Amino acid sequence: MLAVYFLWGGFISVIDEIEAKKNITLEQLQYLLEGNEADYLKERALAVRRGIYGNEVFIRGLIEFTNYCRNNCYYCGIRRDNQNADRYRLSDEEIMDCCTEGYRLGFRTFVLQGGEDGFYSDEKICHLIKAIKGQFPDCALTLSIGEKSRESYEAFYKAGADRYLLRHETANEVHYRSLHPKNLSLRNRKECLRNLKDIGYQVGAGFMVGSPGQTTKTLYDDLQFLRELNPHMVGIGPFIPQHDTPFANKKAGTVDMTVTLLSIIRLLLPRVLLPATTALGTIDPMGREKGLMAGANVVMPNLSPKRVREKYALYDKKICTGEEAAECIECLKNRVNKIGCSIVCDRGDYR
Ligand code: SF4
Repeated sequence: MLAVYFLWGGFISVIDEIEAKKNITLEQLQYLLEGNEADYLKERALAVRRGIYGNEVFIRGLIEFTNYCRNNCYYCGIRRDNQNADRYRLSDEEIMDCCTEGYRLGFRTFVLQGGEDGFYSDEKICHLIKAIKGQFPDCALTLSIGEKSRESYEAFYKAGADRYLLRHETANEVHYRSLHPKNLSLRNRKECLRNLKDIGYQVGAGFMVGSPGQTTKTLYDDLQFLRELNPHMVGIGPFIPQHDTPFANKKAGTVDMTVTLLSIIRLLLPRVLLPATTALGTIDPMGREKGLMAGANVVMPNLSPKRVREKYALYDKKICTGEEAAECIECLKNRVNKIGCSIVCDRGDYR
């Protein structure tokens, strides 16, 4: 079925209307999530991505430097109460080694990602930032270390951090409560994101697709929040249950729904940096390719040492835990080339 709307003196499809207005209604979202016009949606999202970024795919080197976390998000495999998590912290030297190897392989963006680990004072983080930026001044440095005070974010920015990833997870208050314990609040999460943007970071938000309790309405709230925040990056991937969490028996999100939402986000925020996530590649061997062909333009291979890869188990059956960084990037280059795109070795800034 083709839904048509009367706009600007003519009838156009729902997808053209979303693209033209860079907005979506709840009904239009429902219509697209039902799978209607899926091919045309992907086609338009791909065209928009190509118009801005061509066929270039940006790479970000992910360094998962600690899996300690003081929080207890119900969906997360490294939550505080998971006694089965094998905890680790990388030493500063190990982190620098990851960057050195990443640089050799062509990475010009490093992402320092970890749980909210009290071991890392602001001082320690600033020290790390300065060390990495001192040795690799032509690289962008992204932090993904959770909720902090505005003062901390300012200190990291002053030390040289360029970007910050903080998925909002859901912009719906009731849904947020069902995914997080009481000490965490959506209000604070949003406040953090606004502070980060205000300070001058390139900011990434995002959410899981198919998380327990998610509805079309909560997704609609997510999309409207993203339009309002207008982040530089949006990371979305399917929810995948982790066996040691309260959500162990919940159903995973789907490839189709994730891909549909990637395309919609590309139409709403045409310039946004949009990763085809590892989680998408985990639920479908061709998931990342499907994401890239639906409007995504970033991949984030892992630069963490092989010995800790499996320990950063946010969800089950995560792919690419057995390969060295060099093997990962070779594999990804081939995959990306096969779909007519190419990996570029620069900072991959927002355009
Ligand atoms: S989602 Fe983040 S903040 Fe929540 S438990 Fe996991 S690592 Fe910690």
